[in-house]
Amino acid sequence: MVNKEKIEEAIRLLLEGMGEDVSREGLKDTPARVARMYEEILSGMDDFASEHLSKTFTAENNEMVIEKDILFYSTCEHHLMPFYGKAHIAYVPDGKVVGISKLARTVETFARRLQIQEKMTVQIADAIMENLKPKGVIVMVEAEHMCMTMRGVKKPGSRTMTMISRGVFEEDEKLKRTFLDLVK
Ligand code: ZN
Repeated sequence: MVNKEKIEEAIRLLLEGMGEDVSREGLKDTPARVARMYEEILSGMDDFASEHLSKTFTAENNEMVIEKDILFYSTCEHHLMPFYGKAHIAYVPDGKVVGISKLARTVETFARRLQIQEKMTVQIADAIMENLKPKGVIVMVEAEHMCMTMRGVKKPGSRTMTMISRGVFEEDEKLKRTFLDLVK
């Protein structure tokens, strides 16, 4: 849970550090506004992937399930700047499947906290492995990082790709290629 009072205090200090007049009209409500914003964009800290992934259904067959283009917004823990993009998830069930929307909820759970993309990708894959116990899972995340495009190396439009595979996706190159073809 975020401490909104502390965030408000910190934003006031940050504005002062920026050489701003915190009492001017445009900034008057900024500390409270930013605190409310952080409460929302960090709400995944109080959320558990197991809650979304525990309601399972019996799989009719064990064919690969793919959910692609799951949009997400996250916050880079190194710069407190947004990174955002798409996650693609596939798994091969072992008798159990979840509702498609639950995969998107799982992405959101891990995106709505201070993050790094590599860790988020692993967390999504591990949560699916632990809760759904499929034969395998693969997660691919492509994102644009504002801390890279707005400052520093300034490469607008450049995307960072991360991919994690578990179970059958680690061993079966053909299966992995099918996934990559389908998310392209
Ligand atoms: Zn960053």
